[in-house]
Amino acid sequence: MNRGISSETPLIEMSNGQKKFGLFQALTNIDLTINEGEIVTLLGPSGCGKTTLMRIIAGFEALSSGSLKIDGKDVAALPPEKRPVNMVFQRYALFPHLDVFDNVAYGLKVKGVAREERRSRVQAMLKTVQMESLAHRFIGELSGGQCQRVALARALVNGPRVLLLDEPLAALDLKIRQHMLAEMKRIQMETGATFVYVTHDQDEAMILSDRVVLIDRGRIVQVDKPQDMYFRPRTLFAAKFLGETNLFEGKAGASSDGQILLQTPDGPFDITAGAVPMGGAHTAVMSVRPEAMSFRRCASQDDHELEAEIDDVIFSGSRSFFHLVSRGGQKFRVQVQNLPGAELPGTGDMVHVCWRKDSAIILQP
Ligand code: ATP
Repeated sequence: MNRGISSETPLIEMSNGQKKFGLFQALTNIDLTINEGEIVTLLGPSGCGKTTLMRIIAGFEALSSGSLKIDGKDVAALPPEKRPVNMVFQRYALFPHLDVFDNVAYGLKVKGVAREERRSRVQAMLKTVQMESLAHRFIGELSGGQCQRVALARALVNGPRVLLLDEPLAALDLKIRQHMLAEMKRIQMETGATFVYVTHDQDEAMILSDRVVLIDRGRIVQVDKPQDMYFRPRTLFAAKFLGETNLFEGKAGASSDGQILLQTPDGPFDITAGAVPMGGAHTAVMSVRPEAMSFRRCASQDDHELEAEIDDVIFSGSRSFFHLVSRGGQKFRVQVQNLPGAELPGTGDMVHVCWRKDSAIILQP
């Protein structure tokens, strides 16, 4: 199979899912649909419930209430091995006494798949994960990235409709992690399996996913494409969890045409994205990403501007980070792409900072 494009056919459907451990409510009102062929990441801080949600899909935990369907069938009564699902664990759980080939072949052997078919399926899968040349190495003789490939091959050789991956790259260093993310995307496209991927790393989630499911304290707070979640966070939590953002506080009022006016110590800002309740002034924050800001005078009606003093400058190769304090006393950061020969302001300079109005969004604190 080589689709590489997710369909709109629902494969996993959870409705009003609740999970309690004793008195502790680990998951609340989970409504989630994952389509066939998608890569979906469950993202959120430690302890928010990502692994619990994945273990429920795998069948290692049961919902306290609510329903879970896979491929249109209620799976509540199905044990893990009867679900069209395979899981790759953080520590891979490979057999050290078997070589790469036999590790990948193990599941097929248990299922009684004939020797010749087993051989050709394992060989094809080792080719997909680019491990054919190491088929006869033992697990102790492999690097972390190679173990990860074997674990993927072992799970995928069974032809699961869904592959569940629980922080599979956590044990690898940054360079290998980035490489494995690209590999994982390629492998997913080749096999067409649906990937559900747990991580607390927002970069991993954004690089890998078709859609990100953001979870906070057991509740789904937003499900979106990475770009939409980054540029249009619906909550302050989402804005702060994905990337970095500047938050300018003030009192906001909405007009009947949908325009919002935020009164701040640096003057008023008119904003169209986000929402505040109608009537009166409400405490709100304006979120603007540091890379959306630049040092220039306002060029048009489409821009916002304020004056600020540079407190600190951090050079970081391709980019520089400026720490500033506005005239109104608000601290924020500007990120600038470094170009050879470009003149940039320095510490102590008063500057005009400008950004497009449509890069600002109003959020509730
Ligand atoms: P991490 O990123 O640290 O792995 P997570 O988002 O995957 O975190 P979970 O492992 O799903 O979080 O745990 C969610 C909450 O449920 C945590 O507060 C955890 O302590 C609790 N929890 C998980 N399993 C159990 C259990 N078997 N009994 C009691 N509480 C549990």
